[in-house]
Amino acid sequence: MRTVRSVAELRATLSSARRDGLTIGLVPTMGALHRGHLALIGRAREQCDCVVVSLFVNPSQFNERADLERYPRDEQRDAELAAAAGADVLFAPPVQEVYPRGFATTVEVAGVSEHLEGAARGAEHFHGVATVVTKLLCMAMPDVAYFGQKDAQQLVVIRRLAQDLNLPVRIEALATVREPDGLALSSRNALLTPAERARALALPAALAAARALAATGERSAQALLDGAYEAMRPFGVRPEYVALVEPDTFEPVDALADDALLVLAARVGEVRLIDNAMLSPALSQRPDATPIPSQRLEGEAIATCSA
Ligand code: AMP
Repeated sequence: MRTVRSVAELRATLSSARRDGLTIGLVPTMGALHRGHLALIGRAREQCDCVVVSLFVNPSQFNERADLERYPRDEQRDAELAAAAGADVLFAPPVQEVYPRGFATTVEVAGVSEHLEGAARGAEHFHGVATVVTKLLCMAMPDVAYFGQKDAQQLVVIRRLAQDLNLPVRIEALATVREPDGLALSSRNALLTPAERARALALPAALAAARALAATGERSAQALLDGAYEAMRPFGVRPEYVALVEPDTFEPVDALADDALLVLAARVGEVRLIDNAMLSPALSQRPDATPIPSQRLEGEAIATCSA
């Protein structure tokens, strides 16, 4: 695996692969890699000839300075994990490479950026995400870019911008990877104390409670949300929000008529966590939110990336 730090080096590294018609997969990350990230890299490895992992803690999407400052960083460890998972190129640019002096353009996705995470963190959060993802897509020009369903609202923002800006990329989503006890893997889990780690189980407990209610035939959004809220109480965790939304737009729904996404955010100590689960009106509930079955690309890999 080769580590590159400038856009020029990235383009030069990928140019022969592109010329030879090889497929390029991009996995954008902010580092502190865990099995969730590695699943995205593994899927890219299966589907693409050349796998690029980006490692960039994007300052413009952090609404709290303290969150940005304490965000876990360990490039050497991340490089080893990315290489072992099959990455060909690690793109780890410094901040000034992504936001050089004079940088003045922001990508704003209206509507979906404004509720829930957008309301809780400020719309600038998703503007920061949309801008950096657009830039990464323009820098690497991948055929496929891989994202986690764990950040469900971010995924909707990214699908929207790729479609609206006619970006020639397929956006592929992967199901949330969890610890055996149900906690969704997150780089921020490393910041939890052992006692907070135990209380963080409030989030999967809330999702499980809502899923269990839906499985008994409960269709009222309010009743499902109340069930989720109540399930968090024994952990001493109050959600910042719990909502039932239409999966493609994040508009709130009143009743579980079609598949809907239960999304929630909660602070456990100083650490803010999010999670979600797809609820289905069909009586048996799916074990996890797995929205888009993955497809193989046409003209599967025979040649390999020489990066
Ligand atoms: P981050 O480094 O937090 O920006 O995440 C990089 C990518 O990994 C995003 O597309 C996330 O949605 C995805 N991701 C984060 N946590 C998980 C998880 N537990 N399972 C699957 N994907 C994840």
